[in-house]
Amino acid sequence: MFKVVILDAEYPSFELEERVLSEIGARLVFAQIGSEEEIIAATRDADAILVDYGPITRKVISALERCRIISVYAIGVDSIDVEAATEKGIIVTNVPDYCIDEVSDHALLLLLASARKLHTIASRVKNGASTWEFTPVRPIHRLRGRTLGVIGFGSIGRAAAKKAQAFGLRVIAYDEYVAADLFSSAGVRQVPLAELLVSADLISVHVPLTDRTRGMIGEHEFSLMKETVIFVNTSRGRVVDQAALRQVIERRRIGGVGLDVLDTEPPLPDDLEWIQSDLVTATPHIAWYSEEALQDLKRKAALAVADALSDRRPASVVNPAVCNRASEP
Ligand code: NAD
Repeated sequence: MFKVVILDAEYPSFELEERVLSEIGARLVFAQIGSEEEIIAATRDADAILVDYGPITRKVISALERCRIISVYAIGVDSIDVEAATEKGIIVTNVPDYCIDEVSDHALLLLLASARKLHTIASRVKNGASTWEFTPVRPIHRLRGRTLGVIGFGSIGRAAAKKAQAFGLRVIAYDEYVAADLFSSAGVRQVPLAELLVSADLISVHVPLTDRTRGMIGEHEFSLMKETVIFVNTSRGRVVDQAALRQVIERRRIGGVGLDVLDTEPPLPDDLEWIQSDLVTATPHIAWYSEEALQDLKRKAALAVADALSDRRPASVVNPAVCNRASEP
């Protein structure tokens, strides 16, 4: 009987996983743990791991005795040492398409909320403001005709661009790897990063966290942006140098900030002060969530495990070299 360890996942039920995996006779074992040693103890003899956050480090991977797949409940696989898994012949899978609508909606939500200063105006009403004036939140600018810069023109970036165009925003985008016709067919102008930073009125970040993107928006990049820019990040906190972001917020050298992701989640007590600034609208890494996305995520992550343990190639393999190697004669 296969042993499947579900690690670190805080979902209200695992019925879906149980249903999918009972068909291949797998036994589910649950573990909520913190230290590397505890993760090693829980996963050492697993045939498969289903993981939300992890992290699954090289040390954890080297201790795995018979694991065939690490299936990640996410699009981003930055919490897994994919290189170490590949060297050990372990398949890593993600679920690339479960929340494209939700995250792109959420990016628009944060862009609109920041641009329209929702947080400030709504709390004035809730707190019983004696006058309903617009002057305390001046200036708010019309969106139509302004420029949105999308950093990372993948599935979510493209979906966000399309929604932004419906608000009359002109969209420019930066992506190092996407074919030029994807920009032109979307009515989006492809630009270098520096041009995007200088010319955008609003910026939305949609790159994955990799060695190349870690800290890619730092002090220099913020210094290129307009002082009135609305900056939104729904990708991963560490794509942005948080100390540099904190500085522009504290100096009020930014028009507004919308964040669904932070360097450390939940934030450290030290970070609460800048997060509580009237310039910041923050949500708790929830952009992915809808009931439909949750079901889709759980079903597809479990199906990937069932496929791998049944010698079928899972739908979304992050390290295809492992499967190619396995199919070599
Ligand atoms: P995707 O792979 O379709 O798109 C990412 C794009 O970034 C790609 O087009 C890629 O070419 C580009 N890119 C990668 N490295 C780059 C670099 N160095 N410079 C410029 N462009 C680069 O992924 P997606 O589905 O659009 O998701 C994007 C990210 O959103 C995920 O990796 C994940 O971290 C994050 N995400 C967050 C949530 C949430 O709840 N907040 C949910 C899902 C995904």
